[in-house]
Amino acid sequence: KRLVILGGGESGVGTAILGKKKGYDVFVSDFGKIKSNYIEVLGLNKIEWEDEKHTEDLILNADLVMKSPGIPDKAPIVKKLLEKGIPVISEIEFAYQYTNAITIGITGSNGKTTTTLLTHHLLKQGGLNVGLAGNIGKSFAWQVAEDKVDVYVLELSSFQLDGIVTFKPHIAVITNISPDHLDRYNYDYGLYIESKFRITMNQTEEDYLIYDNEDEAISFWLKNNKTKAKKLPFSLTKKLEEGSYLEDKTIINITNNKQINMPTTNLSLDGMHNVKNAMAATTVAQLMNIRKQTIRESLSNFQGVEHRLEKVLKIENVQYINDSKATNVNATFFALESMETPTIWIVGGVDKGNDYTELMPLVNEKVKAIICLGVDNKKIIDSFNNIVDVMVETSSMEQAVKVAQKIAEKGETVLLSPACASFDLFENYEDRGNKFKSAVRGL
Ligand code: ADP
Repeated sequence: KRLVILGGGESGVGTAILGKKKGYDVFVSDFGKIKSNYIEVLGLNKIEWEDEKHTEDLILNADLVMKSPGIPDKAPIVKKLLEKGIPVISEIEFAYQYTNAITIGITGSNGKTTTTLLTHHLLKQGGLNVGLAGNIGKSFAWQVAEDKVDVYVLELSSFQLDGIVTFKPHIAVITNISPDHLDRYNYDYGLYIESKFRITMNQTEEDYLIYDNEDEAISFWLKNNKTKAKKLPFSLTKKLEEGSYLEDKTIINITNNKQINMPTTNLSLDGMHNVKNAMAATTVAQLMNIRKQTIRESLSNFQGVEHRLEKVLKIENVQYINDSKATNVNATFFALESMETPTIWIVGGVDKGNDYTELMPLVNEKVKAIICLGVDNKKIIDSFNNIVDVMVETSSMEQAVKVAQKIAEKGETVLLSPACASFDLFENYEDRGNKFKSAVRGL
Protein backbone atom coordinates (compact mmCIF):
# COMPACT_ATOMS: atom_id res chain seq x y z
CA LYS A 1 0.00 0.00 0.00
CA ARG A 2 1.20 3.48 -0.81
CA LEU A 3 1.48 5.89 2.11
CA VAL A 4 2.02 9.49 1.11
CA ILE A 5 3.12 11.93 3.77
CA LEU A 6 2.52 15.64 3.33
CA GLY A 7 5.08 17.59 5.33
CA GLY A 8 8.63 16.47 6.05
CA GLY A 9 8.95 17.76 9.60
CA GLU A 10 9.04 15.90 12.89
CA SER A 11 5.66 14.20 12.53
CA GLY A 12 6.09 13.51 8.81
CA VAL A 13 9.49 11.88 9.15
CA GLY A 14 8.32 9.89 12.18
CA THR A 15 5.34 8.62 10.22
CA ALA A 16 7.61 7.74 7.30
CA ILE A 17 9.84 5.62 9.51
CA LEU A 18 6.90 3.86 11.13
CA GLY A 19 5.17 3.37 7.75
CA LYS A 20 8.33 1.87 6.25
CA LYS A 21 8.70 -0.48 9.20
CA LYS A 22 5.12 -1.63 8.72
CA GLY A 23 5.70 -2.42 5.05
CA TYR A 24 4.18 0.59 3.30
CA ASP A 25 5.56 2.02 0.10
CA VAL A 26 6.30 5.47 1.57
CA PHE A 27 6.67 8.84 -0.15
CA VAL A 28 7.23 12.18 1.62
CA SER A 29 6.32 15.45 -0.09
CA ASP A 30 6.90 18.89 1.38
CA PHE A 31 5.96 22.16 -0.30
CA GLY A 32 8.65 23.92 1.71
CA LYS A 33 12.21 22.86 2.38
CA ILE A 34 12.92 19.72 4.38
CA LYS A 35 15.64 20.18 7.01
CA SER A 36 18.96 18.49 6.25
CA ASN A 37 18.92 16.30 9.37
CA TYR A 38 15.52 14.90 8.32
CA ILE A 39 16.74 14.34 4.75
CA GLU A 40 19.59 12.32 6.19
CA VAL A 41 17.17 10.15 8.19
CA LEU A 42 14.95 9.60 5.14
CA GLY A 43 18.02 8.58 3.14
CA LEU A 44 19.23 6.16 5.78
CA ASN A 45 15.79 4.53 5.83
CA LYS A 46 15.62 4.42 2.01
CA ILE A 47 12.48 6.52 1.95
CA GLU A 48 11.68 8.52 -1.19
CA TRP A 49 10.95 12.23 -0.82
CA GLU A 50 10.65 15.56 -2.60
CA ASP A 51 10.64 19.13 -1.32
CA GLU A 52 9.69 22.61 -2.53
CA LYS A 53 6.90 21.03 -4.57
CA HIS A 54 3.96 18.63 -4.52
CA THR A 55 4.10 16.36 -7.59
CA GLU A 56 0.49 15.36 -8.07
CA ASP A 57 1.27 12.16 -9.96
CA LEU A 58 3.26 10.92 -6.99
CA ILE A 59 0.66 11.95 -4.43
CA LEU A 60 -2.80 11.34 -5.86
CA ASN A 61 -2.04 7.60 -6.28
CA ALA A 62 -1.85 7.13 -2.49
CA ASP A 63 -3.91 4.59 -0.59
CA LEU A 64 -3.48 6.58 2.59
CA VAL A 65 -2.22 10.07 3.30
CA MET A 66 -0.79 11.49 6.49
CA LYS A 67 -1.01 15.27 6.58
CA SER A 68 1.15 17.26 9.00
CA PRO A 69 -0.90 19.35 11.41
CA GLY A 70 0.41 22.61 9.96
CA ILE A 71 -1.22 22.02 6.56
CA PRO A 72 -4.81 23.27 6.40
CA ASP A 73 -7.65 21.37 4.71
CA LYS A 74 -7.91 24.32 2.35
CA ALA A 75 -4.50 23.55 0.79
CA PRO A 76 -5.12 22.68 -2.90
CA ILE A 77 -3.38 19.30 -2.71
CA VAL A 78 -5.46 18.27 0.31
CA LYS A 79 -8.65 19.32 -1.46
CA LYS A 80 -7.73 17.15 -4.44
CA LEU A 81 -7.04 14.15 -2.20
CA LEU A 82 -10.35 14.57 -0.41
CA GLU A 83 -12.21 14.94 -3.72
CA LYS A 84 -10.72 11.61 -4.82
CA GLY A 85 -11.87 10.01 -1.57
CA ILE A 86 -8.37 9.17 -0.38
CA PRO A 87 -8.26 8.98 3.44
CA VAL A 88 -6.23 11.80 4.99
CA ILE A 89 -5.31 11.22 8.63
CA SER A 90 -2.99 12.71 11.24
CA GLU A 91 0.23 11.31 12.59
CA ILE A 92 -1.49 10.65 15.91
CA GLU A 93 -4.07 8.42 14.21
CA PHE A 94 -1.48 6.54 12.19
CA ALA A 95 0.85 5.90 15.13
CA TYR A 96 -2.03 4.94 17.41
CA GLN A 97 -2.94 2.07 15.10
CA TYR A 98 0.45 0.49 15.77
CA THR A 99 0.79 0.68 19.53
CA ASN A 100 -0.71 -1.12 22.50
CA ALA A 101 0.76 1.34 24.98
CA ILE A 102 -1.54 3.32 27.27
CA THR A 103 -2.17 6.78 25.85
CA ILE A 104 -2.89 9.95 27.80
CA GLY A 105 -4.02 12.81 25.54
CA ILE A 106 -3.86 16.42 26.70
CA THR A 107 -5.50 19.24 24.78
CA GLY A 108 -6.90 22.71 25.48
CA SER A 109 -6.31 26.28 24.40
CA ASN A 110 -3.73 27.06 27.09
CA GLY A 111 -1.67 24.95 29.44
CA LYS A 112 -1.18 21.93 27.18
CA THR A 113 2.60 21.93 27.29
CA THR A 114 2.82 22.69 30.99
CA THR A 115 0.26 20.03 31.91
CA THR A 116 1.83 17.48 29.57
CA LEU A 117 5.32 18.00 30.98
CA LEU A 118 4.05 18.01 34.55
CA THR A 119 2.05 14.81 34.00
CA HIS A 120 5.04 13.16 32.36
CA HIS A 121 7.19 14.20 35.33
CA LEU A 122 4.73 12.73 37.86
CA LEU A 123 4.49 9.41 36.02
CA LYS A 124 8.21 9.19 35.47
CA GLN A 125 8.97 9.90 39.12
CA GLY A 126 6.44 7.18 39.88
CA GLY A 127 8.63 4.71 38.03
CA LEU A 128 6.55 4.24 34.88
CA ASN A 129 8.23 3.71 31.55
CA VAL A 130 6.69 6.78 29.99
CA GLY A 131 7.23 8.68 26.74
CA LEU A 132 6.45 12.29 25.88
CA ALA A 133 5.08 13.06 22.42
CA GLY A 134 2.53 14.90 20.31
CA ASN A 135 3.50 18.53 19.95
CA ILE A 136 6.58 18.01 22.11
CA GLY A 137 9.94 16.49 21.26
CA LYS A 138 10.27 13.32 19.23
CA SER A 139 7.10 12.53 17.31
CA PHE A 140 4.63 9.90 18.50
CA ALA A 141 5.00 7.88 15.29
CA TRP A 142 8.78 7.86 15.56
CA GLN A 143 8.58 6.59 19.14
CA VAL A 144 6.00 3.96 18.23
CA ALA A 145 8.43 2.74 15.55
CA GLU A 146 11.09 2.42 18.26
CA ASP A 147 8.57 0.71 20.56
CA LYS A 148 10.32 1.44 23.84
CA VAL A 149 7.67 2.77 26.23
CA ASP A 150 4.53 1.53 27.98
CA VAL A 151 2.72 4.85 28.45
CA TYR A 152 2.58 7.94 26.24
CA VAL A 153 1.69 11.41 27.44
CA LEU A 154 0.62 13.25 24.29
CA GLU A 155 0.19 16.98 23.88
CA LEU A 156 -2.51 17.33 21.22
CA SER A 157 -3.42 20.44 19.26
CA SER A 158 -6.85 20.81 17.70
CA PHE A 159 -5.20 20.32 14.28
CA GLN A 160 -3.89 16.94 15.35
CA LEU A 161 -7.29 15.97 16.68
CA ASP A 162 -8.95 16.97 13.41
CA GLY A 163 -7.14 14.11 11.70
CA ILE A 164 -8.05 11.29 14.07
CA VAL A 165 -10.45 8.49 13.22
CA THR A 166 -10.11 5.71 15.80
CA PHE A 167 -7.66 7.32 18.25
CA LYS A 168 -8.90 6.94 21.79
CA PRO A 169 -6.84 8.05 24.75
CA HIS A 170 -7.32 6.01 27.90
CA ILE A 171 -7.18 9.32 29.77
CA ALA A 172 -8.12 12.60 28.08
CA VAL A 173 -7.50 16.05 29.54
CA ILE A 174 -9.06 19.28 28.26
CA THR A 175 -7.34 22.07 30.19
CA ASN A 176 -9.66 24.89 29.04
CA ILE A 177 -11.12 26.35 25.86
CA SER A 178 -10.93 29.95 24.70
CA PRO A 179 -10.94 31.35 21.15
CA ASP A 180 -7.68 30.64 19.32
CA HIS A 181 -6.61 29.68 15.79
CA LEU A 182 -10.07 30.65 14.54
CA ASP A 183 -8.63 31.37 11.09
CA ARG A 184 -8.40 27.58 10.65
CA TYR A 185 -12.04 27.10 11.68
CA ASN A 186 -13.82 29.53 9.35
CA TYR A 187 -13.92 31.97 12.29
CA ASP A 188 -16.50 29.68 13.88
CA TYR A 189 -15.78 29.18 17.61
CA GLY A 190 -18.22 26.26 17.68
CA LEU A 191 -16.11 24.34 15.18
CA TYR A 192 -12.98 24.94 17.24
CA ILE A 193 -14.73 23.64 20.38
CA GLU A 194 -15.92 20.55 18.47
CA SER A 195 -12.39 19.95 17.36
CA LYS A 196 -11.09 19.92 20.95
CA PHE A 197 -13.79 17.49 22.00
CA ARG A 198 -12.77 15.00 19.33
CA ILE A 199 -10.35 13.85 22.01
CA THR A 200 -13.21 12.04 23.73
CA MET A 201 -15.28 10.92 20.74
CA ASN A 202 -13.98 7.34 20.71
CA GLN A 203 -13.64 6.93 24.45
CA THR A 204 -15.62 4.18 26.22
CA GLU A 205 -16.81 3.56 29.78
CA GLU A 206 -13.33 2.36 30.75
CA ASP A 207 -11.78 5.69 29.84
CA TYR A 208 -11.54 9.02 31.65
CA LEU A 209 -12.11 12.66 30.76
CA ILE A 210 -10.49 15.30 32.97
CA TYR A 211 -11.55 18.94 32.46
CA ASP A 212 -12.06 22.36 33.99
CA ASN A 213 -15.47 22.40 35.65
CA GLU A 214 -15.76 26.19 35.40
CA ASP A 215 -14.86 26.56 31.75
CA GLU A 216 -17.83 27.96 29.86
CA ALA A 217 -17.16 26.35 26.51
CA ILE A 218 -16.51 22.97 28.12
CA SER A 219 -19.68 23.13 30.23
CA PHE A 220 -21.68 24.16 27.19
CA TRP A 221 -20.42 21.23 25.15
CA LEU A 222 -20.99 18.72 27.95
CA LYS A 223 -24.54 19.96 28.42
CA ASN A 224 -25.38 19.38 24.78
CA ASN A 225 -23.32 16.30 24.01
CA LYS A 226 -22.41 13.01 25.59
CA THR A 227 -19.15 11.35 26.37
CA LYS A 228 -18.96 7.72 27.44
CA ALA A 229 -15.82 8.37 29.46
CA LYS A 230 -15.94 8.73 33.22
CA LYS A 231 -15.80 12.43 34.04
CA LEU A 232 -13.26 13.75 36.54
CA PRO A 233 -13.49 17.55 36.63
CA PHE A 234 -11.36 20.03 38.53
CA SER A 235 -12.55 23.26 40.09
CA LEU A 236 -11.08 26.31 41.83
CA THR A 237 -14.38 27.44 43.26
CA LYS A 238 -16.65 24.50 43.97
CA LYS A 239 -16.40 21.42 46.18
CA LEU A 240 -16.75 18.30 44.04
CA GLU A 241 -17.55 14.74 44.95
CA GLU A 242 -14.96 13.41 42.58
CA GLY A 243 -12.05 15.08 40.84
CA SER A 244 -10.16 18.03 42.31
CA TYR A 245 -11.15 21.15 44.21
CA LEU A 246 -9.65 23.73 46.56
CA GLU A 247 -10.19 23.93 50.28
CA ASP A 248 -8.17 26.32 52.48
CA LYS A 249 -5.58 26.79 49.76
CA THR A 250 -5.14 23.03 49.54
CA ILE A 251 -5.85 20.89 46.51
CA ILE A 252 -8.11 18.00 47.43
CA ASN A 253 -8.10 15.29 44.80
CA ILE A 254 -10.49 12.37 44.97
CA THR A 255 -10.06 9.85 42.20
CA ASN A 256 -11.58 6.37 42.31
CA ASN A 257 -12.07 6.74 46.08
CA LYS A 258 -8.45 7.64 46.71
CA GLN A 259 -7.87 11.04 48.28
CA ILE A 260 -4.73 13.12 48.18
CA ASN A 261 -4.25 16.61 49.67
CA MET A 262 -1.61 19.08 48.52
CA PRO A 263 -1.18 22.65 49.83
CA THR A 264 -0.87 25.02 46.86
CA THR A 265 2.05 26.74 48.59
CA ASN A 266 4.05 23.54 48.03
CA LEU A 267 3.59 23.64 44.25
CA SER A 268 6.73 24.62 42.38
CA LEU A 269 4.78 26.58 39.75
CA ASP A 270 3.15 29.92 40.57
CA GLY A 271 -0.29 31.16 39.52
CA MET A 272 -3.85 29.89 39.78
CA HIS A 273 -3.68 28.52 36.25
CA ASN A 274 -0.89 26.25 37.42
CA VAL A 275 -3.04 25.08 40.33
CA LYS A 276 -5.47 23.88 37.66
CA ASN A 277 -2.68 22.26 35.65
CA ALA A 278 -1.50 20.53 38.83
CA MET A 279 -5.04 19.30 39.53
CA ALA A 280 -5.27 17.75 36.07
CA ALA A 281 -1.85 16.12 36.34
CA THR A 282 -2.63 14.80 39.83
CA THR A 283 -5.81 13.15 38.60
CA VAL A 284 -3.88 11.40 35.84
CA ALA A 285 -1.23 10.27 38.33
CA GLN A 286 -3.91 8.92 40.67
CA LEU A 287 -5.52 7.00 37.78
CA MET A 288 -2.10 5.55 36.99
CA ASN A 289 -1.71 4.49 40.64
CA ILE A 290 1.29 6.65 41.46
CA ARG A 291 2.01 6.78 45.20
CA LYS A 292 0.70 9.86 46.99
CA GLN A 293 4.09 10.76 48.43
CA THR A 294 5.61 10.65 44.94
CA ILE A 295 2.84 12.83 43.54
CA ARG A 296 3.35 15.43 46.26
CA GLU A 297 7.13 15.45 45.87
CA SER A 298 6.92 15.66 42.09
CA LEU A 299 4.48 18.58 42.19
CA SER A 300 6.89 20.50 44.37
CA ASN A 301 10.11 19.74 42.52
CA PHE A 302 8.88 20.17 38.94
CA GLN A 303 11.10 22.61 37.08
CA GLY A 304 8.98 25.14 35.17
CA VAL A 305 8.81 25.29 31.41
CA GLU A 306 10.82 27.81 29.40
CA HIS A 307 8.88 30.90 28.15
CA ARG A 308 5.93 30.22 30.48
CA LEU A 309 6.09 32.59 33.44
CA GLU A 310 9.80 31.84 33.52
CA LYS A 311 11.71 33.81 36.12
CA VAL A 312 14.74 35.17 34.32
CA LEU A 313 16.70 37.36 36.73
CA LYS A 314 16.37 39.75 39.61
CA ILE A 315 18.28 42.97 38.99
CA GLU A 316 18.35 45.61 41.71
CA ASN A 317 15.44 43.80 43.29
CA VAL A 318 13.31 43.96 40.12
CA GLN A 319 12.06 40.55 38.98
CA TYR A 320 12.07 39.95 35.20
CA ILE A 321 9.62 37.30 33.96
CA ASN A 322 9.46 35.78 30.49
CA ASP A 323 5.95 34.66 29.50
CA SER A 324 6.53 34.89 25.75
CA LYS A 325 4.34 31.81 25.19
CA ALA A 326 1.32 33.89 26.18
CA THR A 327 0.11 34.36 22.61
CA ASN A 328 -3.51 35.00 23.56
CA VAL A 329 -5.46 37.10 26.05
CA ASN A 330 -6.44 34.20 28.28
CA ALA A 331 -2.83 33.16 28.92
CA THR A 332 -1.92 36.74 29.77
CA PHE A 333 -4.90 36.94 32.11
CA PHE A 334 -3.36 34.23 34.28
CA ALA A 335 0.08 35.81 34.09
CA LEU A 336 -1.25 39.16 35.33
CA GLU A 337 -3.34 37.41 37.94
CA SER A 338 -0.26 35.77 39.39
CA MET A 339 1.69 39.05 39.70
CA GLU A 340 2.27 39.95 43.32
CA THR A 341 4.03 43.31 42.94
CA PRO A 342 3.42 46.37 40.73
CA THR A 343 4.07 45.29 37.17
CA ILE A 344 5.66 46.84 34.13
CA TRP A 345 3.92 44.92 31.38
CA ILE A 346 5.49 44.39 27.96
CA VAL A 347 2.68 43.50 25.57
CA GLY A 348 1.86 43.39 21.86
CA GLY A 349 2.64 41.65 18.60
CA VAL A 350 0.31 40.31 15.95
CA ASP A 351 -3.26 40.84 17.13
CA LYS A 352 -5.44 37.73 16.73
CA GLY A 353 -8.72 39.58 17.07
CA ASN A 354 -8.02 40.22 20.75
CA ASP A 355 -10.64 41.52 23.13
CA TYR A 356 -8.89 43.04 26.14
CA THR A 357 -12.01 43.61 28.23
CA GLU A 358 -11.39 40.67 30.58
CA LEU A 359 -7.96 42.08 31.46
CA MET A 360 -9.25 45.50 32.56
CA PRO A 361 -9.68 44.83 36.31
CA LEU A 362 -6.31 43.08 36.57
CA VAL A 363 -4.50 45.78 34.63
CA ASN A 364 -6.15 48.40 36.76
CA GLU A 365 -5.05 46.67 39.93
CA LYS A 366 -1.56 45.50 39.03
CA VAL A 367 -0.06 47.28 36.07
CA LYS A 368 1.99 50.41 36.66
CA ALA A 369 3.17 50.90 33.08
CA ILE A 370 2.53 49.36 29.69
CA ILE A 371 5.29 48.96 27.17
CA CYS A 372 3.91 48.22 23.73
CA LEU A 373 6.11 46.07 21.55
CA GLY A 374 4.50 45.36 18.21
CA VAL A 375 4.09 46.72 14.74
CA ASP A 376 0.56 47.88 15.46
CA ASN A 377 -0.15 49.00 19.04
CA LYS A 378 -3.29 51.02 18.48
CA LYS A 379 -5.72 48.56 19.98
CA ILE A 380 -3.66 48.16 23.14
CA ILE A 381 -3.33 51.90 23.58
CA ASP A 382 -7.03 52.49 22.95
CA SER A 383 -7.98 49.74 25.41
CA PHE A 384 -5.82 50.80 28.34
CA ASN A 385 -4.93 54.48 28.11
CA ASN A 386 -7.70 55.44 30.49
CA ILE A 387 -6.51 53.17 33.27
CA VAL A 388 -2.71 53.14 32.96
CA ASP A 389 -0.77 56.41 33.21
CA VAL A 390 2.47 55.35 31.65
CA MET A 391 2.35 53.92 28.13
CA VAL A 392 5.38 53.70 25.90
CA GLU A 393 5.67 52.42 22.35
CA THR A 394 8.89 50.59 21.48
CA SER A 395 10.14 48.89 18.36
CA SER A 396 12.69 46.34 19.56
CA MET A 397 13.02 43.98 22.51
CA GLU A 398 16.21 45.65 23.65
CA GLN A 399 14.53 49.02 23.72
CA ALA A 400 11.46 47.63 25.49
CA VAL A 401 13.57 46.03 28.21
CA LYS A 402 15.66 49.18 28.69
CA VAL A 403 12.58 51.35 29.03
CA ALA A 404 11.10 48.84 31.48
CA GLN A 405 14.24 48.96 33.60
CA LYS A 406 14.04 52.77 33.78
CA ILE A 407 10.45 52.69 34.94
CA ALA A 408 10.74 49.80 37.40
CA GLU A 409 11.47 50.49 41.03
CA LYS A 410 12.78 48.14 43.70
CA GLY A 411 10.36 45.35 44.53
CA GLU A 412 8.50 45.59 41.22
CA THR A 413 8.19 43.15 38.31
CA VAL A 414 8.85 43.42 34.59
CA LEU A 415 6.63 40.94 32.77
CA LEU A 416 6.77 40.03 29.10
CA SER A 417 3.34 38.53 28.41
CA PRO A 418 2.42 39.66 24.90
CA ALA A 419 -1.14 38.26 24.48
CA CYS A 420 -0.32 38.29 20.77
CA ALA A 421 1.51 36.21 18.19
CA SER A 422 5.15 37.03 17.60
CA PHE A 423 5.55 37.05 13.83
CA ASP A 424 5.76 40.83 13.36
CA LEU A 425 9.15 41.25 15.00
CA PHE A 426 10.30 37.71 15.78
CA GLU A 427 10.59 34.28 14.22
CA ASN A 428 8.38 32.66 16.83
CA TYR A 429 7.59 32.87 20.53
CA GLU A 430 10.83 31.12 21.46
CA ASP A 431 12.84 33.71 19.57
CA ARG A 432 10.86 36.48 21.28
CA GLY A 433 11.46 34.93 24.73
CA ASN A 434 15.15 34.36 24.05
CA LYS A 435 15.60 37.95 22.90
CA PHE A 436 13.88 39.12 26.07
CA LYS A 437 16.17 36.99 28.19
CA SER A 438 19.32 38.18 26.49
CA ALA A 439 18.19 41.80 26.72
CA VAL A 440 17.59 41.32 30.44
CA ARG A 441 20.96 39.66 30.90
CA GLY A 442 22.54 42.54 29.02
CA LEU A 443 21.21 45.14 31.46
P1 ADP B 1 -0.06 25.52 25.33
O1 ADP B 1 0.86 24.37 25.10
O2 ADP B 1 -1.50 25.10 25.39
O3 ADP B 1 0.18 26.71 24.48
P2 ADP B 1 1.56 26.30 27.63
O4 ADP B 1 1.70 25.39 28.79
O5 ADP B 1 2.66 26.39 26.67
O6 ADP B 1 0.20 25.98 26.86
O7 ADP B 1 1.23 27.76 28.18
C1 ADP B 1 0.91 28.80 27.27
C2 ADP B 1 0.65 30.09 28.01
O8 ADP B 1 -0.52 29.97 28.80
C3 ADP B 1 1.76 30.50 28.98
O9 ADP B 1 1.82 31.90 28.96
C4 ADP B 1 1.29 29.96 30.32
O10 ADP B 1 1.80 30.70 31.40
C5 ADP B 1 -0.23 30.09 30.19
N1 ADP B 1 -0.95 28.98 30.84
C6 ADP B 1 -0.46 27.81 31.28
N2 ADP B 1 -1.44 27.04 31.81
C7 ADP B 1 -2.60 27.74 31.66
C8 ADP B 1 -3.97 27.49 32.00
N3 ADP B 1 -4.34 26.35 32.59
N4 ADP B 1 -4.86 28.46 31.69
C9 ADP B 1 -4.49 29.61 31.10
N5 ADP B 1 -3.22 29.91 30.78
C10 ADP B 1 -2.29 28.99 31.05
